[in-house]
Amino acid sequence: MKIFTSAKEIQQVILHDKSNKKSIGYVATMGYLHEGHVALLENARRENDLVVLSIFVNPLQFGPNEDFETYPRDLARDESLAVDAGVDYLFYPTVYEMYGDDPSVKVNVQNRTDCLCGRKRPGHFDGVATVITKFFNIVLPDKAYFGMKDAQQVAIIDGLIQDFNFPVELVPVDIIREEDGLAKSSRNVFLLEDERLEAKELYQSLLKAKTAIGTGERNPQKIIALIKEHIQAETKGIIDYVEVYQYPDLKLLDVLSGKIIIALAVKFKHARLIDNITLTI
Ligand code: AMP
Repeated sequence: MKIFTSAKEIQQVILHDKSNKKSIGYVATMGYLHEGHVALLENARRENDLVVLSIFVNPLQFGPNEDFETYPRDLARDESLAVDAGVDYLFYPTVYEMYGDDPSVKVNVQNRTDCLCGRKRPGHFDGVATVITKFFNIVLPDKAYFGMKDAQQVAIIDGLIQDFNFPVELVPVDIIREEDGLAKSSRNVFLLEDERLEAKELYQSLLKAKTAIGTGERNPQKIIALIKEHIQAETKGIIDYVEVYQYPDLKLLDVLSGKIIIALAVKFKHARLIDNITLTI
């Protein structure tokens, strides 16, 4: 595995690989890798000649009171996980390498940001779209792998690829979970011991909703109420949102039908967790 910190250098190497007809699979992460990231890398390994992993905690996608400074970082551990997952090129730029002193262009996402994390984290998806635009131009991937853990991000990047004509195929990858159902996340390390035990109830609440839909419930408000009740009864977490939309359009529904997403965010003492399920009715 080769490690790059210069955008120009990795771009030149990849341009050379592409001139030799090598296909490029790309996984963007903020590091502190876990099995969720590894699943993305495994898919990329299976389907491409070369696998590129970026690790970059992107300041542009963090709000002023969010956890940019404290976000977990461990490059040595990430490097060894990346080698095991068969990564060819690890791109690990500094903030200065990505943005210099004062970037003159940023991407502004127009649709699908007025709900879920987009509403709760103003500017977050502009930061994501800006950094992914840069990474796509640096890495020149044929396929880019994104986890459904961040389902709104998948929908927005799909829009970015369409609207900006990137010759990139977006490959969504299912959520990888701990044995008790908690979605794997770099932020899970911030959960206190008792919070970690309760955190499995987020997925349990989504499964309860799925069962209710399976037995005929079609009222989104009732589904939301069911989930909120479960989380409030079983955890000390503070609900940030529980919302139901069409997926991937993220439009509101009066009656559940077609492909839908049920998504939630819950704040614990030092970690805000998100989870979702998508269903076709
Ligand atoms: P992050 O490092 O949290 O920005 O995540 C990088 C990529 O890994 C994103 O596409 C995430 O959706 C994906 N990812 C994170 N956690 C999981 C998970 N538990 N299962 C599947 N993909 C995940």
